Amino acid sequence: MKRIKSFFSFLVVVFLVAGCTYIPVSNEPMAENMTVHFLDVGQGNAIFVEGPEGQTMLFDAGGDGDVGKQIVDYIKKRGYDSLDIMIITHPHADHMNGAPYVLEQLRVGAVYHPKVTHTTKLFEDFVEVLKKKNLSLIPAQAGIDIPFGKIQAKILGPISSTYENLNNYSVVVRLDAGEFSVLLTGDIEALAEEELLKGGIELQSDILQIPHHGSNTSSTQAFLDDVNPKYSIISLASDNKYGHPHTEVQERLLALDTEVLRTDEYGTIVLTYKEDQILVKTEKDGKNSELNQPYIDPNTGQGLIKGNKNSKIYHMPGGANYNSVQDNNIIWFTTEREAIKAGYRKSKR
Ligand SMILES: [Zn+2]
Repeated sequence: MKRIKSFFSFLVVVFLVAGCTYIPVSNEPMAENMTVHFLDVGQGNAIFVEGPEGQTMLFDAGGDGDVGKQIVDYIKKRGYDSLDIMIITHPHADHMNGAPYVLEQLRVGAVYHPKVTHTTKLFEDFVEVLKKKNLSLIPAQAGIDIPFGKIQAKILGPISSTYENLNNYSVVVRLDAGEFSVLLTGDIEALAEEELLKGGIELQSDILQIPHHGSNTSSTQAFLDDVNPKYSIISLASDNKYGHPHTEVQERLLALDTEVLRTDEYGTIVLTYKEDQILVKTEKDGKNSELNQPYIDPNTGQGLIKGNKNSKIYHMPGGANYNSVQDNNIIWFTTEREAIKAGYRKSKR
């Protein structure tokens, strides 16, 4: 304690001499800053990561339309003309159709990809550009550490060397910046999730990229329970032809104490870890989110979503059990989000 005290007085003196105003100094190590951008790329995946030392990573580069240009413009707007790390989780178009353009436009330090190829023109183009740029693919496998400055970037999957389904080859990366952790999963399905759970690796993370755009092939209860994320991000297009996110996954997420943010509702989602806090910024206000739809009695201004204080279940107007809640057990909510925040679960009927 004495040593710390004298250390502090030394700092105060230095500040006075230098003519600075006094800045409170903590003897805690400085928290790491990291910003994770979940780009709204429609039906696809593209996540841009910035570290405190200016290091950059792009995790997947796929989506709708001219997604390569969208990604490059976004990164350039942030003031970068290069990428330290590019990871393509697996060779499906919705994860890599923008990759050739990104490689053409930005200087890329290293490219990771699972040990699997695909017989598409897109994959051929990808390999062609890599050759032109003198880059070789680094095979991504569980256990590899990606050099990423002060941020620990560890590849947790793929664990096996072969899979029947391309989705399970998806590269899984865990980023750790101080106390802050992010788990990025590509399109892993139940099989790969189970492998991760059996591997006994720490999965608990502040932020989870919900695997496979919220498909019911993925996000098993055991996996979600183990990761137990504060924020669950789903990258997808609204009204996509797959019906993502699937109802089962949405229900599992509702039961979990996690904030679900979808790119189809919030646009690009940016999460920053700074001074032990997670700051969330979104491109849109999410008002089109089902959970934010207001249900209000136009005459009284009262919310119409009926919560049962006893069972902690909420019923939507028109629901089968809406009228069976006893008066003295009723609590009213305006939006589903309000009800969920208060610890209520949606009635199945
Ligand atoms: Zn996908």
